[in-house]
Amino acid sequence: MNKDIATPIRTKAILEKHGFSFKKSLGQNFLIDTNILKRIVDHADLTESSGAIEIGPGIGALTEQLARRSKKVVAFEIDQRLLPILEETLAPYSNTKVIHSDVLKANVNEVMAEEFNEYDDVMVVANLPYYVTTPIIMKLLEEKLPIRGLVVMLQKEVADRISAKPGTKDYGSLSIAVQYYTEAEIAMVVPKTVFVPQPNVDSAVIRLIKRTEPLVQVKDEDFFFQVTRASFAQRRKTLLNNLSSQLPDGKLRKEEILAALSEAEVDPGRRGETLSIEEFARLSDALYPYFQ
Ligand code: SAM
Repeated sequence: MNKDIATPIRTKAILEKHGFSFKKSLGQNFLIDTNILKRIVDHADLTESSGAIEIGPGIGALTEQLARRSKKVVAFEIDQRLLPILEETLAPYSNTKVIHSDVLKANVNEVMAEEFNEYDDVMVVANLPYYVTTPIIMKLLEEKLPIRGLVVMLQKEVADRISAKPGTKDYGSLSIAVQYYTEAEIAMVVPKTVFVPQPNVDSAVIRLIKRTEPLVQVKDEDFFFQVTRASFAQRRKTLLNNLSSQLPDGKLRKEEILAALSEAEVDPGRRGETLSIEEFARLSDALYPYFQ
């Protein structure tokens, strides 16, 4: 077996050889702990016939572990300076492909059709750049890619918000947006010491397994998400106050909101954080006719 990339000594040698300097603006915190990398891959439950999509391979630390445990890995990397390094470090793994692209601008559906056409099982596995974790996760979910799910490292604080349940301080529109599409759980909390350079915040790996059907059926998905965002706009305000001031157009009269709340059987004095996703679905469906 080839020597692991992700040991402190090998990583340092690779970086020095190529004169690489980290760009904070690209969220470059590389993993230098093989044990953690293997545990991340364990949580993805890959088999020899699985495909893996990675966002931000860096110098290939996770890519290598994925290549050993799946049939093919396709990785999107924004930083041109990493391409010659990856070419070298991933040379022993012919089942890897690096695409030089900003994943937020990439047509991932098209790449999947080309690269994973005959695959029954594809997972996104990544140590995400922390400055864009939420946009990346939301893009991959909203584009309804044919993936089984995601296992991704991100800021612990964001992982807490994504997996939060109603009635907790972390529960908000992000919890609902992600849990609408997936079953979300924190797989592990990761210490700062396994990265170079060390990030300022704590990290966690979150496991998101896509639901076969969204958690709730709603008349209009976009409107449902608008209602949830409006309901959390000012956390200390009641649902009635947030909805009257925050819903777009400001067209809705208080009486109309009250009528919709009553139809949805939701008390207007409650705060957004106490509503279950099912209650938000009822509420957005009851409000929807007033927006037509
Ligand atoms: N996977 C490597 C590891 O675990 O050591 C590196 C992870 S590092 C946290 C994030 C990586 O994402 C960096 O390589 C960075 O250049 C890349 N990156 C940042 N923004 C990106 C974007 N918008 N699209 C694709 N890659 C991006």
